[in-house]
Amino acid sequence: MTTRGLRDLPPQALDGTRALVRVDFNVPLKDGAVTDDTRLRAALPTINYLREKGARVILLSHLGRPKGGPDPTYSLKQIVRDLERLLGAPVEFIPDPTAAAATTRRLPRGGVGLVENTRFWPGEEKNDPELAKTFAALGDFYVNDAFGSAHRAHASTAAVAALLKPAVAGFLMEKELQYLGEALREPRRPFVVVLGGAKISGKIDVIQALLPRVDEILIGGAMACTFFAAMGFGMGTSLVEPDRMPLARSLLSQGSTLILPRGGVIAPSLERGAEAREVPSDQVPEGWAVYDIDTATRHDFAARVARAKTILWNGPMGVFETPPFDAGTRAIAAALVAAGRKGAVTIVGGGDSAAAVAGLEDQLTHVSTGGGASLEFLEGKTLPGVAALEQV
Ligand code: ADP
Ligand code: MG
Repeated sequence: MTTRGLRDLPPQALDGTRALVRVDFNVPLKDGAVTDDTRLRAALPTINYLREKGARVILLSHLGRPKGGPDPTYSLKQIVRDLERLLGAPVEFIPDPTAAAATTRRLPRGGVGLVENTRFWPGEEKNDPELAKTFAALGDFYVNDAFGSAHRAHASTAAVAALLKPAVAGFLMEKELQYLGEALREPRRPFVVVLGGAKISGKIDVIQALLPRVDEILIGGAMACTFFAAMGFGMGTSLVEPDRMPLARSLLSQGSTLILPRGGVIAPSLERGAEAREVPSDQVPEGWAVYDIDTATRHDFAARVARAKTILWNGPMGVFETPPFDAGTRAIAAALVAAGRKGAVTIVGGGDSAAAVAGLEDQLTHVSTGGGASLEFLEGKTLPGVAALEQV
C-alpha cells in the first residue's frame, strides 16, 4: 500500500481551489528571528507546486510547546518575514482559524495564508474533531507535508484528514516515506546502519527493529559506552546508562552484527579538550570520559561504510558540538559522502545528526527532517499522520 500523493491529483483540477497544507514549521527561533530555515525551505516544493497550479495555499503548523493557549513566544507570526522572503510573495497571517474561511476564499489564486500555531488551541493535541472541523473549513482538500509531526495524532495531522478529502501526502512527506521506507523494505546490500548519540534508551526499539534486517550496525557516541560497561570495561566518567546494561548484553548476544569502537577520544571534562587523547576502549582511566571515536575506529567505520550499498546514519559519533570532539562525526559524514559518490544510497536521520551534516545535504541521498518521526518510522511503527491519508 502506498500513500496517495499530490501528483495523483489532476493538476488542472487544482486551479482556484484552496489547499489546506499541514507543514512542519517548528523552526528554532532566537529573539523573534528564525535561526535555521531548513524546515521552511523543505516545504517549498509543495507550496510552490500548488501556487503554480493556481491553488490558494493555507498553511497549518505547530511551533514549540506552548502550554495551554496563545503565547507570543510561540507565535508563527515570527516566521512570516522569512517565509515571504523564501516564497518571494506576501503571506497573509491568519491569527485565528475560527471563522476564517472567508479570509481563505479572498486569497488571490496562488496566494498564501499562514494560520497561527495550531497548538494555541487545546483541541490540537487531543486530536479533537471539532477543531479539525474548524481547520477543514479553511480548505477544499488536504495535503500533509509535515513528516516531522506525523508520529502524533493531532487535530491538524490526523482528525482533519478524516474530514477533508482528498487527503494526500506532499512532496517532502513522500520523499521521507520513500527513502526511509525503501531503506527498510528492500535495501541494496550490504546495508550498514551507523548509530550514535547520547543514549541507548531512546533508540532501543530502532536497534531491535533494524538488527534482523541489516548487515552491520556500527555503534558510536555515548551509546557505545553502555555496551562496553555491559562487557565489564571501566568507562570512567563517560555517559553510561546502568539500567540499560542488561539490554546491551542481550543485544550483544544476538550475533556479530553490532560493531563497537576500537577506542575513544578521552578527556577529563568537555572543557578540557586540550588534554584529549586516544585510548583503546578497554583502557579508559578513572576520572576521564569518552567524548568521540578514535582514529582507528574512524578508519574502521569508514571502510565498512565504503563497502556498503545502503547506509543509514542516526546519532553523532561524539560530542560534535564541542571541538575537538567533532572529528569522529565529521569523518563519518565524509565517509557517507564518499560512499554516495560511488553509488551508495546514503540517508541521515535525527535532529542532531541533521545539524551535524549541515552543508553536505546536496552530497547525501536524503537527510530526514523528522527527528522523532523518522525514528518511529524506522522502528516499524505506523505513523498516525500517514495512516490518516488516503492509500492507493
Ligand atoms: P539525534 O538527534 O541525531 O537523534 P541524539 O539526540 O540521540 O542524536 O544524540 C545527540 C547528542 O549525543 C549530541 O548532543 C552529542 O553531544 C551527544 N553525544 C554523542 N556522543 C557523546 C559522548 N561520547 N558523550 C556524551 N554525549 C555524547
Ligand atoms: Mg537529538
